[in-house]
This record gives sequence, C-alpha cells and structure tokens, in this order.
Amino acid sequence: MPPRSRNVTSSAVSESAPQSPRRSDPTKNKKRDIDELQEQSSPLRRSKRFKSTETLKAAPVPDQSEIIDSPSAVDLRQEKPGVSPKKRKSQPRVSIKEEVEEELEITINTKVDKGSQAAPEKADETTTVTGKISRKRKTKQEKQIEMIPLRARTQSVRMCVGAHVSAAKGVFNAVRNSMHIGGNSFALFLKSQRKWENPPLQDEHRDQFRQMCLEHKYDGAKHILPHGSYLVNLAQEDKAKAKQAYDAFLDDLHRCEALGITLYNFHPGSANQSSLPDALSRLAKALTNALEATSTVVPVLETMCGHGTTIGGYLPEFRDLLALIPREHHPRIGICIDTCHSFAAGYDLSSPAGYQSFMKEFEDEIGLQYLRALHLNDSKAPRGSKRDLHANIGTGFLGLRAFHNIMNDPRLEGLPMILETPIDRPATIKDEASDADSEPEQNNKKKTPKRPKAKPAGAKALVPDPSVWAREIALLESLIGMDAESPEFKTLEAQLAEEGREVRAKHQEQYERKLAAEEKKKKSKAAGAGKGQKTLMGMMQASGKKRKGANKGAESESELEREDEGCQSH
Ligand SMILES: [Zn+2]
Ligand SMILES: [Zn+2]
Repeated sequence: MPPRSRNVTSSAVSESAPQSPRRSDPTKNKKRDIDELQEQSSPLRRSKRFKSTETLKAAPVPDQSEIIDSPSAVDLRQEKPGVSPKKRKSQPRVSIKEEVEEELEITINTKVDKGSQAAPEKADETTTVTGKISRKRKTKQEKQIEMIPLRARTQSVRMCVGAHVSAAKGVFNAVRNSMHIGGNSFALFLKSQRKWENPPLQDEHRDQFRQMCLEHKYDGAKHILPHGSYLVNLAQEDKAKAKQAYDAFLDDLHRCEALGITLYNFHPGSANQSSLPDALSRLAKALTNALEATSTVVPVLETMCGHGTTIGGYLPEFRDLLALIPREHHPRIGICIDTCHSFAAGYDLSSPAGYQSFMKEFEDEIGLQYLRALHLNDSKAPRGSKRDLHANIGTGFLGLRAFHNIMNDPRLEGLPMILETPIDRPATIKDEASDADSEPEQNNKKKTPKRPKAKPAGAKALVPDPSVWAREIALLESLIGMDAESPEFKTLEAQLAEEGREVRAKHQEQYERKLAAEEKKKKSKAAGAGKGQKTLMGMMQASGKKRKGANKGAESESELEREDEGCQSH
C-alpha cells in the first residue's frame, strides 16, 4: 500500500533553481535556413546522444506563437558552430523562406541520403516542393510541409516512447501523427471516447492502418496501445448500463483484432454505491466474458489515482481482480502504470528508493509479467492528492528524477511508453485555418469547418501542439544512460522544475486547504459525538453551521474535480 503520510515533498521543487530557460523570440524567425531538422542516433551510444541541457535552454517549451507549421521551431538541437558541411550532408536538409503578410511563399527541399538513420522509410527519396500558400485554406503543398516529421524516430532504442496521438478522420491517421513526432510507440482512440454510438470501422481505414503500420515498422503486438472509452465502467451495477458498457468494450476489442493490435488499455471502472469486492467480481466476470469472446487481444488495466470509489488506485486491487479470473486467461491480461495516477494515489515514484519499492510491490502483489505498458505523465498535484492532473515531463511533482528511474529500468525495455501530457496552447489567427478535429472514425465526407477547441466563455480557445511531444520524447530518450548525479541532469531537472513552479505551488496550496477542511470536519464530528445532551437551540445552530461548511466543501471539491482531466486532456 502507498504511504498515507501527509508530508508532501517533491524532488522537483527547488527554490534556488536557475531562471527558466528563455524562449526563442518569434519575431526573429521570419527567414530561416534549417539544417539538421532530423537528428539523433540511438541514445544507446552516449557520445551521439541528444544533449538535452543546452538544447532545452534554447527551446524548452513550445513557442506560443510560432511553432505551428514550423519545423524549425521544434528543431531540438542547436546548431553547433563546429559542425562541418560534410557532416551535415548525411542529414535531411530543409530550408524555408517565409514572407508573411497575406501570403506565404515557401520553398522546401528535402534530401535524405540513402541509409540515413533519420528517415529510414524514405531513405531514397528526394522531394522538392515549391508553391504559394493562401492564409485562408491549406493547399496541397502546405499539407506536404506538415508531413515533414518534427523529429525523426530514434532507431534501435531500448525504450519505446510515444504519445496518445489524434486519430481524427480515420485510425490510420494516428500512424502518420506518431511518425510526425518521432514516436516509437503510440496510443489512439479507436472511436469517439465520449459517445456510445459510433460508426463501424471502415474496411479501407482498417487496411490503410495495417499497411501504414507495416510500412513504418510499428508492431501491432508491441508498439500500439489504444485507449478505451471514458464512458465504459465494466464494474457497473445497473444491468442495462453494464450491458451497454460491455458491448462498447467488446466492440473495441474486436476493432483491435481487426487492426492487428494486441494491447488495449482501459480504466478498471468504479464501484459507485456498491462494495469493492462486488464491483471487482462484476469486473472480473465482464473481462472473462470478453476474453472468451476474443482470441488475441490483451485488455490492459490502467492504474488509477484512487479517487472516490474508483478501482485501480492500489496495486493489491489488481491482485484481487486476477484471483477472480480463471488462470487460463491470465496471459491475456495486462496492467499499465500511469505515473501520474499512481503518484496521485500515494506511491512515491520520484526517489529511486520509492520507485524501487513500488516496483517491488508490483512484483510481489501482481507479478511483473502483467506489466505491459506505461503512461508517462508528470503530476500537477502533490503525491497522495488523488487528483488526475497531468503535467509536462519534469515540471510536476514527480519531477525529472521519476522519469530517469523509468528510462533506466531494464525491466521496462520494449514496453510502449505513452505520453498523455498537455499540448494545448492558445489559438492564434493562423490556427483558424488548421485542421484539428478530435473525433476519430467520423464520417469524413462531411466537411466541417476547422476550428480550435471551444472553451467556456471568457477562456481562450486552445489548439493542440504536438511539437511538445516531439520534444518530450527526445528528452525522455536522452535520459537513457544519463548519470543522475551529473551536472547535465541536475541542470535539466532544475530548469524543468522551475518551469512548473507556479502551477505546483497553486495545487500544493489547494491540497493543503482540502486537508485542513477535512481535519476540521473530523474534529467537529468527534467533538459533536463527545457532547452529551444538546439544547434545541444549540442543535439548530450546529446544523446551520454544518450545512454551510458542507456546501462550501462540496463546492470546492467539485471545482477541483472539474479541473481534473487526466487522460482526457488529449
Ligand atoms: Zn493514462
Ligand atoms: Zn487513461
């Protein structure tokens, strides 16, 4: 069980941390000449590894106004003065000239030498694109520019890091979107995650998905981890709702098998009004039925943050669930550790000792053979807060050290490691013409206007910026083999911690307020129970106060929950 201590500390918090790294000035980027867009050999060879400290200083977080459509903005490596043109020759070349007024004139030359590690699938291609682009609508050429990956996938890397990418307008688009950020694994929704009714998987989409996975060497048995619907609760007590949940779940499993995908991640569900043992036995029954109705897919249960009656906050719950499922099905059941969720549930994944004891508990209670995937997210809220608030890597309460532990654990080699970190940023005018649609498998004949995500009145519209993931994948891969005591690591850790300082302070304060309110409630309850006979007046006063207090508590609680997005942030 995770420690229940209320002393919340974070290795990421450092008051003496250096200044936040500077962001590049967007006004200086009207003309660019970008070499070495693609970079990086295997991090197994340290000498060639991406040196994150200096690099992140140059481009720490997405530039808020300039990044979209701009490959240069996500160039993770600073051009080193000493790099000879000969050395550059082996890298793909991209040069972009922009004259931004009402029109953009763009010339792109992409040359990839045969055998280059940067883009193995297109190793012998030479593409030249020239065209005029109107601001209002994207042209073919502009779309082609977008196709140029933000970073190349690292070859022969031990850890398969990727992100939960968009599958808008067809599941096959997820493959392209993963390639775009240099992911060696990826997650996706197989259908709309917030709707019960969905059109069936189209045959062409299925074939295209399989073809693209083959082409780009994504192994459906290892590298792809779809995420289940948020509506599904297999532990549901209500018979009709349970049937609806089961049908939607089974439909997803069938989609996996059609697409050649082995792993399927889903939330264990919630006990709601019923007891945990009852809920676990309903979940076990549904899972057993689903396993019997399918043949190859492996349902993977995600660790949760332990809020309310949610199942999966604590590792022994998975042990208890497995005990209720016939043994012959066990090889087809997996568990996915969501770092943010397990930390919020109370497990210390930050310190090397805490991480080791978490893994030991996993091994002892469940067995490492069940560990099939990870969701890599930092946490905006403190350990034990039971809040599902994903933060960018290194900026939350987990801190970079937690991810160093993971990236250097040989037991996790080859598992899909999926980023579900926030990538939304405020929309700019340029974004008006962008095509962001978050609904997968929708009728693609229907031309919907492209708009940034709608937000409540007063809030700025947001658009997703996948270059954040491109950078985080590079960052995580750079941690492989890095000495955690080196100045390189310490500087990087402090920089990222500084970036998230304000957000952490806000959530630390919220958490402490919540704890204080709970403590007060407990004390007044105890005092009330200790009192003897009460006068009528006294009772009325007390109940009035209590009601006020309760309302206040409920308000702040629901406010907090509204903010919790977790996996839903993508
Ligand atoms: Zn997750
Ligand atoms: Zn999830």
